[in-house]
Amino acid sequence: MARYRDSVCRLCRRENIKLFLKGDRCYSDRCSFDRRGYPPGQHGAKKAKYSDYGVQLREKQKVKRIYGLSEDQFHHVFERANRQKGVTGTNLLVLLERRLDNVVYRLGFVNSRTQGRQFVRHCHFLINGKKVNIPSYIVNIGDVIEVHEQSKTNQFITDALNTVVRRGFPQWLSIEKENYKGHVKALPVREDITMPIQEQLIVELYSK
Ligand code: SF4
Repeated sequence: MARYRDSVCRLCRRENIKLFLKGDRCYSDRCSFDRRGYPPGQHGAKKAKYSDYGVQLREKQKVKRIYGLSEDQFHHVFERANRQKGVTGTNLLVLLERRLDNVVYRLGFVNSRTQGRQFVRHCHFLINGKKVNIPSYIVNIGDVIEVHEQSKTNQFITDALNTVVRRGFPQWLSIEKENYKGHVKALPVREDITMPIQEQLIVELYSK
């Protein structure tokens, strides 16, 4: 899979919104978007005009980048959402939110979804007592996500837990910080996703 290797702060500037891709830095005065809130590149400071297609494309790119997925992975999630009953756009966001790499980020075990992905891959977490190293694993109601015994002393995890409060905690999850354990109380609903996303634009884009 092709990996994006350039500065991720450029992605925030391109999408004209803070995507919170760099953990602590996003909350500090070193945030590139706060200092240069215009698109990257030679003509970035010029005001861009987008066609309808351009607006839809930017929305899709934004969500894809928030959750750190490749085009293929994102399209795969969309197709799954499309096969489900209900509103496709909402299904899409709910499926993205239920990914394990996002859940460990939401629980505060890691500082960013990228770190979540890496830590899941490195087997730092158990689900219902079993090792799971698949970032795209979709959690379900009743699942218990805990930090592996050997990883409880991991400085990145303890630091992340200490700073989770600044980004708020979703209603559908609960955490026992002292036990390094989180619970899925319910499935997320649209209101739990607080980033400004117009998911219907993504549905329109993929419906062409
Ligand atoms: Fe985006 Fe700022 Fe975080 Fe960089 S530091 S990823 S610009 S929010």
